[in-house]
Amino acid sequence: MRKVAIVTGGNKGLGFGICRGLAQVFDGDVLLTARNTQRGIQAVQDLQKEGLTNVKFHLLDIDDSESIAAMAAFVKETYGGIDVLVNNAGIKSRTEPFGLQAKVTIATNYFSVQDCCHQLFPLLRNGSRVVNVGSSSGVLERIQDQDLKSKFASSGSTLTYEELDNLMRDFMEAANAGDHVAKGWPDHTYAVSKIGLTALTRIQQQKFSENPDLKDVVINHVHPGYMSTDLTCHKGPLTIDQGAKSSIFAATLPPNTDVKGQYIWSDCQILDWVHGPIPA
Ligand code: NAP
Repeated sequence: MRKVAIVTGGNKGLGFGICRGLAQVFDGDVLLTARNTQRGIQAVQDLQKEGLTNVKFHLLDIDDSESIAAMAAFVKETYGGIDVLVNNAGIKSRTEPFGLQAKVTIATNYFSVQDCCHQLFPLLRNGSRVVNVGSSSGVLERIQDQDLKSKFASSGSTLTYEELDNLMRDFMEAANAGDHVAKGWPDHTYAVSKIGLTALTRIQQQKFSENPDLKDVVINHVHPGYMSTDLTCHKGPLTIDQGAKSSIFAATLPPNTDVKGQYIWSDCQILDWVHGPIPA
């Protein structure tokens, strides 16, 4: 069956850049997904006008479990499996009060991405590549509290999915109560959501590595760089095509790569998320 690469939040910004870059090098269809049909179809038409006829549309709202299930069923029926999955869709909420901001940001950037993975991972073919789009905001050094920091640092070794979910819920509760800083959390909901996503990536890789049937399934998390997109109010210096570089690198890693569960920076260098150093 034909190969497929799925990109979430593909209608604009980085996701659109990733779809464009992947379509140029990927031997199969690139499924540009979006939560709004009109915006998604428009984006596909724009890429098809560039000659990228292997880009197709499918509806996907990552906050809606049934929407994920419907897309999974379509992919199974049409392609029989998944070769590349890029979890790009994300938000930077500016909603006030802070507790609500934490709730919506962690819900989408952590729990919804996790739901996507939960429903789509059973379709991953051996040799597939998964990319979680993190951020430089999600570096571990953002957490000053040593106890919390060491819990996140133990992702990929001893931290369980359940413990990580509970950490994210603890943050949401503390943010709602207004004592998150006193409890050692950063005063930054987006940063915590991306720290959670990174820790999730590290556990996911650990699970793939433990499964003999998924020996060459690889997941990494990337920092795309500071780009000009709606999310940054177009303040970042990088274009979406420049920002897409690290995701495309991670999505096209060769067979039997040892780049697994790693933090890939915008220039494609591999960084140590736990010990650093992290570029300025
Ligand atoms: P953007 O221009 O705001 O695009 C975000 C995309 O995600 C849009 O397509 C949006 O769809 C989609 N999305 C949001 N919630 C969704 C949901 N529930 N279901 C499906 N799609 C959803 O932002 P961006 O800058 O391209 O960001 C893309 C990713 O890069 C995010 O994960 C972000 O955290 C990360 N990132 C960005 C930067 C940067 O400098 N821009 C830096 C580091 C990391 P709608 O159009 O329907 O809203």
